[in-house]
Parts: sequence; C-alpha cells; structure tokens
Amino acid sequence: MKTEEIIQRCEALYEDLNFTSAREWKAAEPGRHVIGFLPIYIPRELIHAAGMLPLGIYGGGDQMEVIQGDAFYQSYICRIPRSTIELALTGKLDFVDGMLFPSICDVIRNLSGVWKLTQPDTYVRYVDVPQNYEKEVGGKFYIQEMRELMDGLEKISGREITDDQLRESIVVYNKNRELINELYHQRAKTPWNIPVTEVYLLMRAGQVLPVEDHNQMLSDYLTSVDQVQRPKRDNTKIILNGMFCEQPPLNLVRSIELAGCYVVDDDFILVNRWLRENVKESGDPLENLSDAFLEHSTRTSATYEPDESKKGSQLVEAVQKTGAQGVIFAAPSFCDPALLERPMLQDVLDQNNIPNIAFKYAENTGQMQPIREQAGTFADSIKLWS
Ligand code: SF4
Repeated sequence: MKTEEIIQRCEALYEDLNFTSAREWKAAEPGRHVIGFLPIYIPRELIHAAGMLPLGIYGGGDQMEVIQGDAFYQSYICRIPRSTIELALTGKLDFVDGMLFPSICDVIRNLSGVWKLTQPDTYVRYVDVPQNYEKEVGGKFYIQEMRELMDGLEKISGREITDDQLRESIVVYNKNRELINELYHQRAKTPWNIPVTEVYLLMRAGQVLPVEDHNQMLSDYLTSVDQVQRPKRDNTKIILNGMFCEQPPLNLVRSIELAGCYVVDDDFILVNRWLRENVKESGDPLENLSDAFLEHSTRTSATYEPDESKKGSQLVEAVQKTGAQGVIFAAPSFCDPALLERPMLQDVLDQNNIPNIAFKYAENTGQMQPIREQAGTFADSIKLWS
C-alpha cells in the first residue's frame, strides 16, 4: 500500500465516532467481545489473550457536540470525561462489553463511577497500577490486580485465559512495540519524511484495530515511506509534552508543524509506548508483564517519582537522543496532572539550557492561529538565538 492510502485509512478510522471497524470485528464471529479503555496504560495483552479486542477511547474530539455529558461534571474540568460520557449516552459505545478506567487522575476514577451508574449492564473496572516500583510491594500488588482483571474478562468470555495464550499475546504486542519504536526512530532521524500528523494517525489507528492488523499497517507504512523523499525544510526540531490523555485536535498538531517545527518525539497515545522495552516472552507471563511495568515504564505526571533528582530525566534524555532543540508543553486545560508537573519539568529543562514554551488546549479547540504564531515564534527564536 502507498503512504497516502495507509494514512487515508487511518484518517477514516480516526474520524469514525461510531467505531465501525470495531463493530465489524465483533460481528464477524459469534462470541467476540470488545473491551474499551481510557488513557494512559492498560495491559492490553490480557484482553488480547482473552480473545477480545482492546478499544482505546479518547473522547469525542472536535467532531462531537457535548450536550448530555456536561450534566455529569462541573465546568472547570477537562473535556475528555464529558465527551466520553456523551459517546456512551448517544449509543456510540453500545457494542462495548466492558470499560477499563486506569488510575491516572480523580477525573478518570470518577468517570468509572459515572459509567457504573449510567451503563449498569457493562463490566466496569477501575484499574489501579502500582506507584511503588519495588517488586515485593508494587509487583505483588500489580500481579493481583491483573489476576482480578483476568477474572472479570473470563466471566465475560466464559473461558479461561491460559499462560500460553498470554505468552502469545505478549509476543504480538512486543512486535507492535518494535514497529512503533522503529517508526519513532525513523521520524527522529528524518522528520521531514514522516510528518507528525501521520505518526499521530498511525498511533490512533492502533487503538481501534486488532494488533495484528496494526502491525501490518505499521510495517507497510515503514516500507512505503522509505520509498518517498519529501522536501526538507528549515524547521526546528521540538518535542511535544503533555498530550498523554485528552488528545489535541489533529489541526493543532498539524499547525505546530506548519509553524516551522519538526516534532521528533511526543507523548501521544502512550499506551502504545508505555513499556519502553519488550516484555520477556518465556516464563510466568503475569510476572513478566509486572516486571516490565516496574522496570521499563514511561514516566509521566501520573507517576509518583520518589527520587526528586530523577524528575524530568526521561524528557532530558529524549531531547539528547532525538537531537531536539526545544520542548513545547501542550496540555489540556484543567488537566491537574500535566499542569502540576509542568513547572517541575520546565525547571529541569531550564537547568539544562533547553528552550521551552507552554500552552493549553481542549480537544475541541478551533482557533489555531494563536498556537501557530506561538510555535512559529518559538521555532524562529531557537534558530536565531540558541
Ligand atoms: S486530561 Fe488530565 S485531568 Fe483530564 S482526565 Fe486526563 S489526566 Fe485527568
């Protein structure tokens, strides 16, 4: 497939708030189930091993008017929970058999309660991940948490999840991680050839497609994009940070590039890149998933960092690894985790002489001109003075 065809398919998947491809997957064989999940991280291997489709839910974006969803939350709060409830109340998620709410912030936790009240027939689970990274404490806790989640999935499917099935799922998700790492590696090397919008759309496609199809798509894209050379512009290389939960509108992402920035790293759709190294494929699969979480997790503002000196170190490493010339902090309005962490990260960047700016957005932000001007001025100032 050609690059344009792959990206057109991704764009169609991204715009489809009825989740037609997931509906079709479920309808193709009797007994299939779909399990929705919210950002940031869920061990999708468990859902896959249960023979189910993990479906990433990222709110209604800028295509959905929130009417009923507003009634469930106060005004001064991010938009993703309201548009996610709107998706449910308008029947767009009526084919989903279960919903998982990871422990990222109070808003998502409360959303799991709202879901129980409004969708009483759906399996709902608040998935707590460890904040203690010691194997004897956080590891034991996480394995127990995964066992309970597996119990819930087994009750839906009516069949047991075996260790062999889990190991097979780990293999297929390891492949996904490798392809995504390769995509990010290639993008950092030649950002003019792999635009940020294409990376974003490819990452989103992985939230609605079966992982095997996503692997094929990524592999096709990497082959096809290698055969095309796009013009190289005098853009400034930057990293985007803060977009790990409520997603920016696609036009906002596009505007940053059009303003003269090449995005060489980001924190979009982190579930795809949460584990920075592959999970061990042999041995006890739950223990391997737990070890990978404890040892190779991405650090975000939703992660407790007991060692203050390590705060921001992954971001500084990403700047060094990708050759980025600056960082743009872009976080959803009213996002407590991202906005509370931002000053700490900015301090670390300042100490390392890494230029940075910050702005806020909502998933339905429509005015791109101010963002374009801000990003453009930032890119120019780096070129002139850094
Ligand atoms: S955008 Fe921020 S505050 Fe809102 S649900 Fe996500 S992490 Fe929580």
